[in-house]
Amino acid sequence: MIDCLFCKIVAGKIPAKVVYEDEDILAFNDINPLRAVHVLVIPKKHITSLATASAEDVLVLGKILAKANEIAVGQGSPDGFRVIINTGRVGQQEVLHLHAHIVGGAEPVGPMLKRI
Ligand code: AMP
Ligand code: ZN
Repeated sequence: MIDCLFCKIVAGKIPAKVVYEDEDILAFNDINPLRAVHVLVIPKKHITSLATASAEDVLVLGKILAKANEIAVGQGSPDGFRVIINTGRVGQQEVLHLHAHIVGGAEPVGPMLKRI
């Protein structure tokens, strides 16, 4: 999709530190890492968010989750990790190309959310 940041990374028009790639998905380091390991895993095909994903996206969505442990272990998170998929306005999704954050490292990542 034109003017989509992550589509530009898929197309190689914007650089990224790619840590895994296959025909369907791309994983690269987050530019502003929040933990020792912080990787974004995206479908190469533009899907805006989980709110717009459809039945034809089931395989690629499954692949993102199925590859998460391999990616996390390879990046230095051998003992678990957290997957976060911010979605839409309430989920405070900033980049409107679906992406799974994989966050981890040697230490536990902390509480899931703070109660407000
Ligand atoms: P979200 O709030 O879930 O949409 O997260 C967007 C994430 O994209 C943030 O963690 C940003 O640090 C990350 N990000 C933004 N631009 C880039 C980029 N050019 N390369 C890698 N990560 C990026
Ligand atoms: Zn896109």
